[in-house]
Amino acid sequence: SNDFDQLKYKTLKHFWGYDSFRDSQEEVINSIINEKDTLVLLPTGAGKSLCYQLPALFREGVCLVISPLLALMKDQVNQLKFRGIEAEYLSSELDDYDAEVIYNRCKDGLTKLLYISPERITNKQFLQNIEEIQLSFIAVDEAHCISEWGQDFRPSYQNIKEFRKNNPEIPCLALTATATPKVLEEIKIKLELKNPKIFQKSFKRENIRIFTEEVSDKFQRVFDILKYNHSSGIIYVRTRKEAELLTEFLHKNQLKNVDYFHAGLTTKEKNAKQNLWNTSNNYVLISTNAFGMGIDKDNVRFVLHYSPAPSLENYYQEIGRAGRDGQDSFAYLLWNKQEIINFEQILKNQIPNKSEFLKIITYLYSIFQVAEYELPEKVFQLNINGIQNFTKLSIAKIKNVLNFLHNQEIIYYNDNKSLSSLELL
Ligand code: ADP
Ligand code: MG
Repeated sequence: SNDFDQLKYKTLKHFWGYDSFRDSQEEVINSIINEKDTLVLLPTGAGKSLCYQLPALFREGVCLVISPLLALMKDQVNQLKFRGIEAEYLSSELDDYDAEVIYNRCKDGLTKLLYISPERITNKQFLQNIEEIQLSFIAVDEAHCISEWGQDFRPSYQNIKEFRKNNPEIPCLALTATATPKVLEEIKIKLELKNPKIFQKSFKRENIRIFTEEVSDKFQRVFDILKYNHSSGIIYVRTRKEAELLTEFLHKNQLKNVDYFHAGLTTKEKNAKQNLWNTSNNYVLISTNAFGMGIDKDNVRFVLHYSPAPSLENYYQEIGRAGRDGQDSFAYLLWNKQEIINFEQILKNQIPNKSEFLKIITYLYSIFQVAEYELPEKVFQLNINGIQNFTKLSIAKIKNVLNFLHNQEIIYYNDNKSLSSLELL
C-alpha cells in the first residue's frame, strides 16, 4: 500500500540517510515482508545487507542473520548500532553472562537483528534459548558457502537445513553474489526454499558487445581499430613498457589522441592525463591496471584488452568500465598463437602453480567469453587442494582446449557464437 511504501522510504532516510533504493532492493524487501522465501543474487557492492536489515525493522521478532565471518558480523552490528538499530552478534569471544544478556534482549523483543555463525546453529545453549525467541525471518548471507562446488564451501552451512526443518514456518532470505546455475540450485535445495522468489541481476552488461580476436600483429590491429575511432576508450596492457611502446608506435603513425598511463608516473602526470581523458570525447588511454580505480566516466565507448587480465574478476571489472551511460559499447580482446604456445610449454613441463593456473584459465575463459565463474573456481579449487586425479583431468582438458586453439585458423568470435565452443571444456 501507499502508506507502507512511504514508511519504507522514511525508514530508509531516517536510519540510513539514503533517498532511494537501489536496483531490486525494494522488491526483495517486499518479498520477505510478505513472508516469501527469497533468493537474491546481486553482485558485490549492490547493497544486499539492506535487503534484510530494513525488513527486520518491519517485522515482529528477531531477524536471525547467518554470516560466515566474525569480522563481517562485528562490522555490520557496529554499523547498525551506530545508526540506532538494535543488533547483536553471538561469538565464542563472549562469556556466558554477555550471551545471556543478548538472549534476554532477544526474548524481550528489543533486538531486531541477531548475527550468528553457521556453527552456532547446532549449539545446545543456542537451541534452548532460541525456543523462547520469536524469529521474524532467517537471512543467510553469502549463501553460496553452502555449495560444495564453490570456492568458499563451509561444511557448517549444512546445519541450516536441519534448523529450517524444525522451524518450517519461518521465512528464509538467501543472499549471494555467485550466480552460477549449479550453485543456485544447490542453495535452493539445501536451504529448503519453497517456491522462492528469485531476484537476479545479470552480471553481464547487455549494452557491451564483446569481441575476441586472434591476431598475429597486435600493434597493427590496434592501429586499425583506432584509425576510425572518434570516441573515448581504454586499452589495457600488462606492463609499463608495453604501454609506452604501443603509444610510441601509434604516435609515429599519426594517431595523436592516445597516451599511456601507469603507476610509474608522478601524481601530477597521472592527474593531467586522467583529466584530459575525462573531459574529452575522443581520447584513449593505454594503461596497466593502475588506471581504473574510481574511474567515473559515463561515455567510455570501448575497452580493448591488448593482453588478457590476470583474473576473470579483473576482466569483467575492466570491461565494465565501458558503457556506463547504457549506450552501445564494445569490448575487444586480442590474443595470439604465441601466447597459446607459451601456456602449452608451461603445462608440458610441470603442474602449474596457483597464479599460472589462474592466468591460463582466465585467458581461455576470456577468449571463450563465459560470463560465469563456476568452472574456473572449481578447477582452481581442486588444484590447490591437491586432488591429483582431478587436477590431471582438468589440465588434460585445458591441454585439449589449447590444442584446439593452436590448430585453428584465425578465429573471430562475437558474444553470440562463442558458447558452443565451450563444449570443449
Ligand atoms: P553487498 O552485500 O551486496 O556486497 P553491501 O550491503 O555491503 O553490499 O552494501 C554496499 C554499499 O552500498 C554499502 O556501503 C551500503 O551502505 C551502500 N548502499 C546500500 N544500499 C544503498 C542505497 N539504497 N543507497 C545508497 N547506498 C546504498
Ligand atoms: Mg554482503
